[in-house]
Amino acid sequence: MSESEHIYDITVIGGGPVGMFTAFYAGMRQLDTLVVESLPELGGQVGTLYPEKIIRDVAGFAGIKGAQLVTSLHQQMNVFPDFAPTVATNEEVTAIEKNDDLFTLTTTKGQYQSRSVVVAIGGGSFAPRKLALDYDETLENKRIFYFVKNVADFAGKTVAIAGGGDSAIDWALTLEGIAKKVYLIHRRDQFRGLESSVQRLHQGSIELMTPYLIDNVTDGDTFNLDLKKVKGDEHLDLPVDALLVNYGFTADNRALRNWGLPLEHRLLKVDENMETGIPGIYGIGDCVTYPGKVKLIAAGFGEAPTAINEIAVKLYPERRQPLHSTQLEH
Ligand SMILES: Cc1cc2nc3c(=O)[nH]c(=O)nc-3n(C[C@H](O)[C@H](O)[C@H](O)COP(=O)(O)OP(=O)(O)OC[C@H]3O[C@@H](n4cnc5c(N)ncnc54)[C@H](O)[C@@H]3O)c2cc1C
Repeated sequence: MSESEHIYDITVIGGGPVGMFTAFYAGMRQLDTLVVESLPELGGQVGTLYPEKIIRDVAGFAGIKGAQLVTSLHQQMNVFPDFAPTVATNEEVTAIEKNDDLFTLTTTKGQYQSRSVVVAIGGGSFAPRKLALDYDETLENKRIFYFVKNVADFAGKTVAIAGGGDSAIDWALTLEGIAKKVYLIHRRDQFRGLESSVQRLHQGSIELMTPYLIDNVTDGDTFNLDLKKVKGDEHLDLPVDALLVNYGFTADNRALRNWGLPLEHRLLKVDENMETGIPGIYGIGDCVTYPGKVKLIAAGFGEAPTAINEIAVKLYPERRQPLHSTQLEH
């Protein structure tokens, strides 16, 4: 059966922490589940914005790094191999259409059919803040990078990293031992990062290019960055193999408005079963509102079983409806 003919029980839109836990829970309830995530990696705000932060308010963990929480959610999603969700990344859902009891989801790559939908898009679709320059977009993923998919892509190369926050510093320190040479370009002399990381920056081999802005990029025999001194006219030509830009992310939840779902203060209004005004479409996590809603990971984790158990009863009323997690046979 081709992917466009396959009918999923549940499609979770958004692979943030709440979408990931929802996909695990749906698998545990033996529902055929798809997760669609617009970014190249699952993890949402936690994985993208604060992988290094120690989170203190997720039940069962006195403290867990954001990145570790995402890794654990990945493991949990795959704990029942027969019911592990199908995951589609780098793919944004742009439209949801209902025909009788079936939903068609249109994405930036194709279409999926599903018997129910769980919207878990958090603050919305993330996109990296790009270089504010006119440049040839075909250079993206060849010379100019906004994500690191595999650190090995930078092995032995001369890499410039642009940005002054935690993410730029982390990548500079990570690539220091892998790349041939690392430059870190920032428009200020001060970096905004963990004190210990900033200290390592100053002690290692990373060349700090401050206070400079990237004024232009050109690609020919060599890939060159034209750096301009902030509050000055001085220009500097920096030939590199790759430029990794870390200017942060923007989030856009305008998709919600296009999907015709009932909203309140630009958030998805849900009832006590986490169902939106449209039967079969549920909402959980940061993108929803109801009396008493708090935008926390723990709250989103609690909303997932409410939605999934409700969906399971509706799709498979004949099945026994267990309340507790299943013992794994090893
Ligand atoms: C700096 C910071 C620190 C925080 N610290 C804490 C903390 O200590 N404890 C805590 O509980 N909470 C904390 N939070 C809040 C917490 O991160 C959120 O409550 C949580 O991420 C919500 O999870 P979510 O899955 O609902 O949404 P998100 O994490 O926003 O994930 C939504 C996902 O959906 C994807 N998406 C959006 N639109 C589409 C689309 N159309 N198609 C496909 N995919 C789409 C997005 O790319 C994203 O990956 C913090 C937030 C920030 C910004």
